[in-house]
Amino acid sequence: MVSPHLTPDELKRLVRTVPDFPQPGIQFRDITTLIGHHQGMAASVHHLAERAKAAGADKIAGMEARGFIFGAAVAVQLGIGFVPVRKPGKLPMSTIGIDYALEYGTDRLEMDPTAIQSGQKVVMVDDLIATGGTALASADLLRMAGGIVEHALFVIDLPDLGGAARLRGSGVAVHALMEFEGE
Ligand code: AMP
Repeated sequence: MVSPHLTPDELKRLVRTVPDFPQPGIQFRDITTLIGHHQGMAASVHHLAERAKAAGADKIAGMEARGFIFGAAVAVQLGIGFVPVRKPGKLPMSTIGIDYALEYGTDRLEMDPTAIQSGQKVVMVDDLIATGGTALASADLLRMAGGIVEHALFVIDLPDLGGAARLRGSGVAVHALMEFEGE
């Protein structure tokens, strides 16, 4: 039977690699070309939604900004709510937040503390996992809000940067549609 959806290998060919962005030595894996292709976008969401459904998701959390693109679409596909994990200063209500280390300096993520009911299964979605700093901080934050965080879904994993392994080490199963070698 012919699958109506593009396979992960076909999706990988739709990701554009831009060398030396945003700095020399980084191979930027650009999803603009993937999401601009209607079957590419639909199939990515389909594959992620299958995983989220199997994980028993009650809520989908997406990390700003590219996690919003895939996460919100997955939530709609499954008929469940979406929780934005935001950069600081964006949300109008009283928030909870977490600071986390970057290679140079720190960054912060914030969310609405009432967005999750205690004990709900929250599945995280982002476009890419590199060092895992963003995903680890998000998992901690979503747990602070009362969520059970046991699964994280990514379109792209860069396994050489170790983020997926770090996330698994904190009790989160990691699934990615594709991997790229190197940074
Ligand atoms: P990290 O916290 O190191 O796992 O980085 C995760 C975030 O940085 C992801 O949400 C990506 O959007 C972005 N990112 C990191 N490395 C790359 C890369 N090589 N290509 C594209 N985006 C990247």
